[in-house]
Amino acid sequence: MIQSHKKPFLIPMKTPHFSALFQPLDLGFTTLKNRIIMGSMHTGLEEDKPSLTRLAAFYRLRAENEAGLIITGGFAPNRSGRLAPFSAKITNLREAKRHLCVTEAVHESRGKIALQLLHAGRYGFHPLIVAPSRIKSPITPFTPWAMSKRRILKTIRQFAASAKLAQEVGYDGVEIMGSEGYLLNQFLVTHTNQREDEWGGSYANRMRFPVEIVRAVREAVGEKFIIIYRLSMLDLIKDGSNLEEILLLAKAIEKAGATLINTGIGWHEARIPTIATLVPPATFAPVTSLLKNEIKLPLITCNRINTPEIANQLIEEGVADMVSLARPFLADAAFVSKAKQNKSKAINVCIACNQACLDQVFVNKPASCLVNPHACRETSLSLTPVSRAKRIAVVGAGPAGLTFAVTAAERGHHVTLFEEAPRIGGQFNLAKTIPGKADFQHTLHYFEYQLKHHRVTLICNHTATVKDLLHFDEVVLATGVVPKIPDIPGITHPSVMTYLDVLQGKAKPGQQVAIIGAGGIGFDVAAWLTQPHSTNAHHFCDTWGIDLSLTHRGGLTAKHLEKTKRRVYLLQRKKTKPGAHLGKTTGWIHRLNLKQQEVTFLSGVEYKYIDDAGLHLYNQGQLQLLTVDSIIICAGQTSRKDLYPSLQTHERSAHIIGGAFKALELDARVAIEQAYRLALSI
Ligand code: FAD
Ligand code: NAP
Ligand code: SF4
Repeated sequence: MIQSHKKPFLIPMKTPHFSALFQPLDLGFTTLKNRIIMGSMHTGLEEDKPSLTRLAAFYRLRAENEAGLIITGGFAPNRSGRLAPFSAKITNLREAKRHLCVTEAVHESRGKIALQLLHAGRYGFHPLIVAPSRIKSPITPFTPWAMSKRRILKTIRQFAASAKLAQEVGYDGVEIMGSEGYLLNQFLVTHTNQREDEWGGSYANRMRFPVEIVRAVREAVGEKFIIIYRLSMLDLIKDGSNLEEILLLAKAIEKAGATLINTGIGWHEARIPTIATLVPPATFAPVTSLLKNEIKLPLITCNRINTPEIANQLIEEGVADMVSLARPFLADAAFVSKAKQNKSKAINVCIACNQACLDQVFVNKPASCLVNPHACRETSLSLTPVSRAKRIAVVGAGPAGLTFAVTAAERGHHVTLFEEAPRIGGQFNLAKTIPGKADFQHTLHYFEYQLKHHRVTLICNHTATVKDLLHFDEVVLATGVVPKIPDIPGITHPSVMTYLDVLQGKAKPGQQVAIIGAGGIGFDVAAWLTQPHSTNAHHFCDTWGIDLSLTHRGGLTAKHLEKTKRRVYLLQRKKTKPGAHLGKTTGWIHRLNLKQQEVTFLSGVEYKYIDDAGLHLYNQGQLQLLTVDSIIICAGQTSRKDLYPSLQTHERSAHIIGGAFKALELDARVAIEQAYRLALSI
């Protein structure tokens, strides 16, 4: 035998990354390749006419990037179940055939996709809405019609027929929406179901409707078709289900033929945040495990799971068998493939702001994503390599400059990014200091990674001058904004400071504070002054009165608020409700948070002057003195674009983006999208 003197050749062992997440899940008749579900999201593309090609492209990209199972936005099984007059439904073959391009796109990409069947019940925005009883919801303007027994039976048949149609056009399954306070959920709870027939009264009667739907759907589609039931684990409303009822329902749903149970959190009318940024990651996951030893079906957990680390931990610890992430797939289509390649730093993490997704859908605009403007625009925006690489200077590493720099560099340009601060991020460095907004930090980490990855030359601690910019082919000014200082007598008084001074730690506000300006930043500064600066799931649940053990009905218990000692006034000149312009889906949380801290909102004020005694103003025609020791200016911004005219004198033009372009009505969504579009066109 020939002896080799060489060292034995060792095959490097691959460390399994996120190994729990990437275990396949065998459902008996089919196998899901990993434990990550792209959860249902209404994007607004579901209503596209005549075809669903935009939706198909949106899902194709996520399937190509290895989402384990995609669940579509909600499609109604009948006319009365639609969310709005022209919302999507799947009630006949013509409507179903529109989906062929969707299922083909996903299957060509080796993915799997289930269609969500959603009957809005009393949450619909149209006069044809129906519910178990004729009781209006607090969040919609229409009063529903009480369903007759005949209509109940017909609706069950319609669910089954729609599921069958979904199967015929190639879906791998359906998700039956039984949570979030929609029709099926409305049958379960006495505050919406006050029927006295066999569909109301006892819990056994109240749960009959969802159970019969699952049974009818299973009968229609046969054994080899995925049926996910989205079951409301935590209603977060008074009179919501208790644990005993939920277990009864889960067992009945299992028996009726479901394949998977997805656990939903919170009715839409609940006044407790469930998906906003201030909800700590995976806060609600423990409720899923309450079903663990009770039923055999694989369980799916969701809400505020936005990184592979959190997702993997939940599977590893046995909290659930699968995780469902929705908005993170808007923020990054390649969430799963990046996690699989152990490139979690490369993931553009969803910061749960709702600004470009839910808030847009609420005003009938297609969803996209604040941190990823490509989302839902897959057919109209494409990032193509450049034919001639240019040398581009970008001034300012706020969200606008960062987005431009990374996108242009990814296309092949040679980008140099100047930032006068020691670190990148611009105003996001302030945003991330606001209680409940720590996730904004993720965006900065993402950009740090991408700048290196795409070899952007980053020059920090340097205020760019015209001289620095003259030898570039293109110049992009993303120099942002500075706080606007209102013209109020006494504005230079030592008690006056800007939000910048406060959030950068350059000025320390006292215990009696007046905030001039009740826009997004005014609200954030009020939160900074009054809310605890660090929180965790336990503290969050305590503050909002959430009982994750479900000992109390609906998972609601007493709130334990930490009251601030600060006295805060939040002021505006407009007569409208303060915070009227905050996000549709999150504004109420900001207002409620501050009200709970007894912040005084004053609208329609006229500022008179500031002196040692405090802030003098007219409030409802009366001169009033607010005896405060600190006055914080949050009165909007002005653009910073002094480099522009200087460049022009050197006969050089420049592109201006973000806050530097327009300070009024600026937010990060606008800044990032503008930067992205420019980078695709240059
Ligand atoms: P900026 O973020 O202002 O960045 C400009 C950058 O340019 C800065 O880093 C600056 O140092 C640099 N710069 C300027 N001149 C030069 C120069 N000559 N040389 C080198 N560098 C230079 N928006 C939202 O959409 N949602 C929110 O929830 C939200 N919360 C916020 C909370 C707070 C407390 C604050 C202050 C803002 C918040 N915003 C929010 C607003 C958002 O951060 C801004 O709209 C966004 O940062 C604007 O991006 P920008 O890149 O245009 O400008
Ligand atoms: P903003 O929302 O436009 O609010 C500016 C505030 O200043 C208003 O309340 C305005 O009310 C007041 N104001 C304006 N001019 C004034 C003057 N001359 N004297 C006194 N008061 C004056 O701007 P912002 O708060 O600076 O926020 C900047 C951007 O960031 C906004 O687009 C905002 O949406 C975004 N942002 C969003 C969030 C979020 O949670 N989504 C959070 C922070 C920031 P009156 O004119 O009525 O007095
Ligand atoms: Fe997440 Fe905000 Fe993007 Fe919506 S817009 S997906 S909440 S980062």
